Amino acid sequence: MKQKVSRIALMTSGGDAPGMNAAIRAVVRTGLYYGLEVYGIMRGYQGLIEDDIIKMNSRSVANIIQRGGTILKTARSKDFLQLEGRQTAYENLKKRGIDGLVIIGGDGSFRGAVTFSKEFNIPCVGIAGTIDKDIAGSDYTIGFDTAANTAVEAIDKIRDTMEAHDRVFVIEVMGRDAGYIALHSGMATGAESILIPEQKTDINDIITSLKEKERRKKLVNLIVVAEGDDFGGGNEVGRVLKENLPKAEIRVCILGHIQRGGAPSCMDRTIASRMGYHAVESLLEGRHNVFVGITNNEMNYIPLEQAVKMKGTINEEWLNIVKILAK
Ligand code: ADP
Repeated sequence: MKQKVSRIALMTSGGDAPGMNAAIRAVVRTGLYYGLEVYGIMRGYQGLIEDDIIKMNSRSVANIIQRGGTILKTARSKDFLQLEGRQTAYENLKKRGIDGLVIIGGDGSFRGAVTFSKEFNIPCVGIAGTIDKDIAGSDYTIGFDTAANTAVEAIDKIRDTMEAHDRVFVIEVMGRDAGYIALHSGMATGAESILIPEQKTDINDIITSLKEKERRKKLVNLIVVAEGDDFGGGNEVGRVLKENLPKAEIRVCILGHIQRGGAPSCMDRTIASRMGYHAVESLLEGRHNVFVGITNNEMNYIPLEQAVKMKGTINEEWLNIVKILAK
């Protein structure tokens, strides 16, 4: 049964991810479809505190489904960590009669929503948007597929020059706490080794393996490192490999922010559209303080609090497959 909700607001918060615009479009247009007034909050929680809130209509989200970034902009807000900030945020919502809030962001933004909804009576629904895919309870998060594909495209290009010169390349991809981009892009580009924060890195094992490959003249080798790998990231791995393999031509490349931008993939646009639609349905059906995720291609609704507590786990079989295929 649909609930009495008349005005909703949405924001993008924390780290940006390609596909956020597609989610904004879906939330706005679904809200309007159900006869709701829809407000866009600029720059996440900070814009909410500063009352930077605009009324959205169907045209405000025209021609954005294919664009990276977020038209609502995003931010990290220190003020929202304080009760005083959250009080002001609540007052800004109340004075407009907003009775539902959609937060598109990662686990940090969800943590903010949990605190906010406990202190003030404002129903919140999250949409999992992060390139890191590190929110347990959802097989996909908005932005991951695009970021992983951007990494694959870049690594493919590097591989051409790597092959031409018989080089070893250490390529660092994004992922401060999570190794999914590294795992997926590394497997998809035929990496010898993939180093991720979830697994302790045994550098000696990599050195031994590269020496063995050197002996049998397999000189082109690719190592994909997540930026948050416990050994210290791409530069550190490259430095130690250079020390231990003086004959090898070793180069390091840090892919960096290109992984955050660009047109979202078909996958990210479709999951963003579905999640956006279901987030509004959730508010209307009284499923509050949950985030919308996708498991086995079905929508599911996970309490925001659980998203905060759980962390995704890496399937170790993937690493084993990578090792076998890299011979
Ligand atoms: P992401 O959503 O990408 O994980 P952050 O971790 O930076 O990004 O979180 C985004 C914002 O959420 C923070 O800048 C802060 O304003 C808010 N936030 C995070 N944790 C809390 C918390 N425990 N209480 C209140 N607000 C929080």
